[in-house]
Amino acid sequence: MHVFTNRPEISNAVAKHKENGSKIGFVPTMGALHRGHASLFNFALQKCDVVVVSIFVNPTQFNNSQDLETYPRDLQADLELLENINPNLIVFAPSTTTIYGTNIESIDYNFDGLDTVMEGAFRPGHFEGVATVLKYLFEIVQPHFAFFGEKDYQQLQIVNKLVAIEKLPVEIIGCPISRHDDGLAESSRNMRLTHNHREIAPFIYSTLLKAKELFDDKGIEEIHHFVTNAFAESALLKLEYFEIANARTLEHTVAKRANESYRAFIAVFAGDVRLIDNIALN
Ligand code: AMP
Repeated sequence: MHVFTNRPEISNAVAKHKENGSKIGFVPTMGALHRGHASLFNFALQKCDVVVVSIFVNPTQFNNSQDLETYPRDLQADLELLENINPNLIVFAPSTTTIYGTNIESIDYNFDGLDTVMEGAFRPGHFEGVATVLKYLFEIVQPHFAFFGEKDYQQLQIVNKLVAIEKLPVEIIGCPISRHDDGLAESSRNMRLTHNHREIAPFIYSTLLKAKELFDDKGIEEIHHFVTNAFAESALLKLEYFEIANARTLEHTVAKRANESYRAFIAVFAGDVRLIDNIALN
């Protein structure tokens, strides 16, 4: 498996594959790879001839320096996982200086409000950090397709917007959420859960499933009450937000309208580990 750390080498390697007519897929990650990431690699491998995986813990998307410091990093384990999936994967694992030089700052973007709700409201500056690193990575890798998980559905919408704003020649593919057998969405953060928090964490998804059931014939406010009360009774999980939003605009929903798609979004603290999940409601 090829592992590149600097810009010209990865750019040249990709350019050579393109000259041979290969379709290039790209999966950006922050490492600590798990089955959720693997599902993205497999989607990419099905659709593309050559797949590049980046592993880079992006400092500008962390609004909390402790979160950045404690983010799990294990490049050797990541490379082993990738090798087992497919030794032809190309890995790009740059340093912070390679991506940002000496200017570790986000670009200012106007995402028409997509970045100010939910994750954006609770993590100010997060999405500008995400967009900035993706712009740089897309410029270096120059893929035909890039694959993102619906696990971070708001991020997926931001990426689509970034591509439109910057007119980037890449097609964005959204991939379904990969879950543990008990329903908990796979996440690098799950490994930080205590035994008790890991046991209770599937409650997040089971509550989303109940919200989806209620969506057919109950009002939005009633569903909010149901979810808030469900978490109020939990000693171990603390609800940060529950939101029902328009799947396209991410606007807060007050009442359902015909011909629109809606999604429920949730963020929960299990101890000091923050978990997010979401579900399509219709
Ligand atoms: P991260 O390493 O957390 O930045 O995630 C890299 C990519 O993997 C993002 O597009 C995530 O949405 C995606 N991803 C993370 N967890 C999952 C999951 N459980 N199912 C599907 N995609 C995921």
